[in-house]
Amino acid sequence: MLDLHVHLLGHKDREANRETIRAFLDEATRRGLKEIGFADHDYYWDQMNFPLIREVAKDYPNLAVRIGFEAEYRPHEEDRIKNLLHQFSFDFVIGSVHEFDGWIFDIPEEEHMHHKKDADEFYARYFEVVTLAAKSGLFTTIGHLDLIKVFGVRPRRDILTLADEALTAVEERGLVLEVNTNGRYKPVREFYPEQRLMEEIQRRGIEFTLGSDAHSAENVGRDLEEATQLLREIGVQSVVGFSRLDKVSYTLD
Ligand SMILES: [Zn+2]
Ligand SMILES: [Zn+2]
Repeated sequence: MLDLHVHLLGHKDREANRETIRAFLDEATRRGLKEIGFADHDYYWDQMNFPLIREVAKDYPNLAVRIGFEAEYRPHEEDRIKNLLHQFSFDFVIGSVHEFDGWIFDIPEEEHMHHKKDADEFYARYFEVVTLAAKSGLFTTIGHLDLIKVFGVRPRRDILTLADEALTAVEERGLVLEVNTNGRYKPVREFYPEQRLMEEIQRRGIEFTLGSDAHSAENVGRDLEEATQLLREIGVQSVVGFSRLDKVSYTLD
């Protein structure tokens, strides 16, 4: 019913123009979504065109079109993100960690390092940075909570212990976590976050949103019905969208 994580620009595969925006909104409509959220990577800032999205969205009165971005969270760069936040009236902002201590860990070229390094250590360090992201007060949402599993390398320590502080920070700040279905198309072959984390998130009363992380129009809404079903099964009754940083609740029926 909602997809709050799509990349209009992909990895700079296309530009933001009427045609490309329409392709995303048409697919969202075709899939019966009520809400779609554009969340391009902040490093493509200069290619983004928020006013044009707002304008094209007027032709889709039955679809809530939200605008945000996916910020690369690095400690010591909070001012950079704060500055971006002031440049537009965003609906939501995703804070994501794809990199820490100079290691961009989620690119295929780095897969071998996941086997070489100590998984307990890099999981712990990853979640430390996610905790800082959650505490920064910059975001409405934390992206793909357990992205560090992207290549299927698992820690020996319990994931609930490793993620404990990050979850506490998310809870205390009232942030939202997404079920991000894109993990299924990565070597790990499962959604982010894994089922046990989902159950713990639900147990703590943290709210969920949904995201396909589509980098092209055809993947808008991908697997979100299944994600929704999973949430129902663990007792989640509603998911959250955003309008100008305020939560909008959708009942799962
Ligand atoms: Zn991401
Ligand atoms: Zn993304």
